[in-house]
Amino acid sequence: MKIIVLKFGGTSVGTTDRIKKVAKIIAKYKKKYAVIVLSSAMSGVTNNLIKLSKKISKNFSDAEYDVLVSSGEQMSCSLISAELIDKGFNSRSWISWQVPIITEGKYKYSRINKINKSQIIRYLKKGGIPIITGFQGINNNNRITTIGRGGTDASAIMFAKFFNAEKCIIYTDVDGVYSTDPNKLKSAKKIKAISYEEMLEMASLGAKVMQPHSIQDARLNRVDIEVKSSFTNNKGTLITKRKNIINNKIITGITSTSNDSKVTLLGVRDKPGIAASIFKPLSENSINVDMVVQNISADGKETDLTFTIKSEELGKTKKIILQNNKINFRDLIFDKNVSKVSIIGVGMITTPGVTYRMFQTLAKEKINILVISTSEIKISVLINKKNVNKAIKSLHKEFKLNN
Ligand code: ADP
Ligand code: ASP
Ligand code: MG
Repeated sequence: MKIIVLKFGGTSVGTTDRIKKVAKIIAKYKKKYAVIVLSSAMSGVTNNLIKLSKKISKNFSDAEYDVLVSSGEQMSCSLISAELIDKGFNSRSWISWQVPIITEGKYKYSRINKINKSQIIRYLKKGGIPIITGFQGINNNNRITTIGRGGTDASAIMFAKFFNAEKCIIYTDVDGVYSTDPNKLKSAKKIKAISYEEMLEMASLGAKVMQPHSIQDARLNRVDIEVKSSFTNNKGTLITKRKNIINNKIITGITSTSNDSKVTLLGVRDKPGIAASIFKPLSENSINVDMVVQNISADGKETDLTFTIKSEELGKTKKIILQNNKINFRDLIFDKNVSKVSIIGVGMITTPGVTYRMFQTLAKEKINILVISTSEIKISVLINKKNVNKAIKSLHKEFKLNN
């Protein structure tokens, strides 16, 4: 049995007309494959559920949050299934606990670690088309869990792994992965094939088109992914091993974030262990610190420490720092008007001068760099939000991504 896994994102199932289109795509693959479908909730539904939770409480129970926000997928799966049945196919929806899809980890951020295959295999053998809720599973206590926003990407990849699928196609509202968000820069170019490593960096650094965890799962399990549009027939992007890719560009993609905040502690007494004293309680409270920079004062007695966090963690971070009696500092400042712009590409490993070119390009545009961080295949800078589009446009041109 040749199995294919198809994933449909929120916009692709956003209206009943689109669901009818999705059913046609599924029907096309059914001619050649045993098809497993993973669906997201209709676009906007998950956001609305989250809004409802906020109306009840700022401290809405994490376990109940997962029950609530996972409900959107039940709706879309049933609509897809019913449309297929109406067109004469054998189809049924599967809620994650009915499969079951087993997850581990905390509520809201669980990861799939097992999928019970028996029922689905039996159904596929009978010619059925299972439509399965993405983004969720159940844990060892039989409670419903979710696997992070955009998690249906990871659900699809884990199904492809467990069912040894021949193909895994992620259907979304753009026809592939682009050099930068095509909805923000018209000259963005579609990437034919991209390595897991580059895609993981791009996704983690703001390219919403794929969920970062899903790429980790794909890389670990060597699942090739095709990203395509559910609205057009265009060829999409292949996400695969580095070995399979020929690329002559130094930079593959440019990303930006929209929800970072900068925190600065001014006049911190400079002594060994001070950074650890600041970051320990943050990590104990699951606050993810991203970029860090420390300036040493002229007399070596005081230092300023700057770091970035997700904006939604700002309130919590402020409280933790102010309550921390292990540290002394003169002032605490926050800046929400920042964005992290990153250039990503395996080509920079072997090409000297990329950092210089990036900084020079931003300098020409009079864009001030606040914080810098680098890895083997990416360079990120923190800049004022108002300069993001200008920065992306100029970097896109500098690294010849327009052609
Ligand atoms: P879905 O609901 O199908 O999961 P998402 O909204 O999560 O879709 O992801 C698709 C969106 O990702 C696109 O509409 C696009 O604006 C955005 N995006 C950001 N960066 C990129 C990129 N480099 N290439 C393609 N799309 C991108
Ligand atoms: N519906 C969920 C979300 O909006 C999961 C997904 O779309 O993949 O985050
Ligand atoms: Mg998505």
